[in-house]
Amino acid sequence: MSATKSKTYPPTAAAAKRAHVDAAGYDKMYAHSINDPDGFWGEHGKRIDWIKPFTTVKNTSFEPGNIDIKWFEDGTLNVSANCVDRHVETRGDQVAIIWEPDDPNTTESLHITYRELQTHVCKMANVLQTLGVTKGDRVVIYMPMVPEAAYAMLACTRIGAVHSIVFAGFSPDALGARINGCDAKVVITADHAPRGGKATPLKSNADAALLRCKDSVKCLVVKRTGGQTTWTDRDYSYNDMVLEADDYQQPVEMAAEDPLFILYTSGSTGQPKGVVHTTGGYLVYAAMTHEYTFDYHEGDVFWCTADVGWVTGHSYIVYGPLANGATTIMFEGVPTYPDPGRFWDVCAKHKVNQFYTAPTAIRALMAHGNDWVEKHDLSDLKLLGSVGEPINPEAWNWYYNVVGKGNCPIVDTFWQTETGGHMLTPLPGATTLKPGAAQVPFFGVLPVVLDPQSGEEVHGNDVSGVLCIKDSWPGQMRTIWGDHERFETTYFGDYAGYYFSGDGCKRDADGDLWVTGRVDDVINVSGHRMGTAEVESALVAHVAVAEAAVVGYPHDIKGQGIYAYVTLMNGIDPTDELRAELNKWVRSEIGPIAKPDLLQWAPGLPKTRSGKIMRRILRKIAENDFDTLGDTSTLADPSVVEDLVENRMNRS
Ligand code: ATP
Ligand code: MG
Repeated sequence: MSATKSKTYPPTAAAAKRAHVDAAGYDKMYAHSINDPDGFWGEHGKRIDWIKPFTTVKNTSFEPGNIDIKWFEDGTLNVSANCVDRHVETRGDQVAIIWEPDDPNTTESLHITYRELQTHVCKMANVLQTLGVTKGDRVVIYMPMVPEAAYAMLACTRIGAVHSIVFAGFSPDALGARINGCDAKVVITADHAPRGGKATPLKSNADAALLRCKDSVKCLVVKRTGGQTTWTDRDYSYNDMVLEADDYQQPVEMAAEDPLFILYTSGSTGQPKGVVHTTGGYLVYAAMTHEYTFDYHEGDVFWCTADVGWVTGHSYIVYGPLANGATTIMFEGVPTYPDPGRFWDVCAKHKVNQFYTAPTAIRALMAHGNDWVEKHDLSDLKLLGSVGEPINPEAWNWYYNVVGKGNCPIVDTFWQTETGGHMLTPLPGATTLKPGAAQVPFFGVLPVVLDPQSGEEVHGNDVSGVLCIKDSWPGQMRTIWGDHERFETTYFGDYAGYYFSGDGCKRDADGDLWVTGRVDDVINVSGHRMGTAEVESALVAHVAVAEAAVVGYPHDIKGQGIYAYVTLMNGIDPTDELRAELNKWVRSEIGPIAKPDLLQWAPGLPKTRSGKIMRRILRKIAENDFDTLGDTSTLADPSVVEDLVENRMNRS
């Protein structure tokens, strides 16, 4: 391993001084949260406003056949009242949402105060009510990243409707399946969604999707570009209806365990699952993690670059930040439009204090060189965050040194759609950072490493296995929509009594946790078990490599062979010499056992719309079995797959 990989970073004096918790504070709070969950969450549950205060805190069971999760169950509350109304009195003129458009040269950014947000949310709630939406009904949101998407989410919560957001990049088929899946009464969409200079025709996609749905489903259309759309009997114009809508709508009293939203997982391992989150526990957990992980303080400007179509956008663009009265940025565009300096331009323009993005974006921007970062003033940045995949140490170091100038702690947050909020993450004032590791549990989270075969807990340090969670936390999903049995088998079926994350994990000599990728992504080469993430990190550490994906394939002698797909930095030519050099490089970085058997140049990698590599498809191509690639409806760019199949290396 190269020297930079093992370097660690204790909290800087500035971060430790500023932070809500230092190392001793973390130990104390964590112990409290585990030893006395009722006391701990009883206290922190009060961070939000309750209409009727809860008297019970935790009532949860991971017992086989009786998986039942309830938090704060006799309390009542309203999420929009918490995210909007309660801030209007104290900070009505503070900006709640900064909207940054796709094209900064043709469109102005918007600043929406908490007072204005209240009016927008109430009007949207009133419009939904006029369309017949009442408590418990489902509403699908298929929108660009515009403020109306946040209004729609909050409007649903105001009247007790359950939203299910479908990312605007999804096809009519995927949308139709989700509308039917949750039996939605209304779909909210927009005419077009501009992204990276191109406009997706959302409304016509919605029309195509709705052909497969009940006639009674209504479609509420928000004007974004003003571009041409066809109009059908089921359509309603938001912009017309809002003119007539009341500007106040009473928030409905919801029970803590009433469903708040349904969200489908990204589908990188197979069929997406309709994850259900409920009202009280989710909001407490989203708000709490937002404050502590990002060390959010009054007046900070927080930017999470995700889309509201992903759980990251739910928890850290909308619910967490707004519950805390923060200023949150909604970004409509992509990292490379109009140029690869866009993220840093937006950071400078809005004086962003905390910046949260995904390794895939970091690697893409790293490939364009440092100049794009260096020409922007990033002096307001105090903290950087990463989410979605393990971050390779190489990308971590670039993020830390080039973007953060060595002054900003990086929080590598491991969590899932299912977990509602962060599960493992360093805390900026408390944790000595290790590039590539999510390290320590958040308050209330009890991670264990299990032996994958025996299902026994593996104790001590310097061990590896599968990552499970031993007890419930407030942000945990409650069920899969309409299929509690699938919920039980998917998450509790493999290891009785534990929530199984599906991810592999190692605990290093210091007791820090490293998520090594999905369990399916562990390969066994001549009896040596190895996480594909490790080989990928080694490849990405080479100067010529922008991105790499590694999978196993059947190998006569070794059992499994290593098949690497490699995307080169801009401007670097794929040659046989380079291939040989990369093989040598991996040997020296990890060892001869990790040397790829086959290495294919990949101009692009198949990714989900949220930017995760779909190794499932890469495995099929590596196995020379590409006729049955499975569900590819969540792929961002299906044409990438054709190129890979055409140039595949294993033709046996
Ligand atoms: P599906 O469950 O449908 O296959 P998905 O798991 O990609 O989709 P998400 O819930 O968005 O959908 O992603 C959660 C997964 O992302 C985790 O299980 C883990 O594999 C990975 N992940 C997220 N953050 C990190 C991180 N900081 N470090 C390592 N892995 C991460
Ligand atoms: Mg998953």
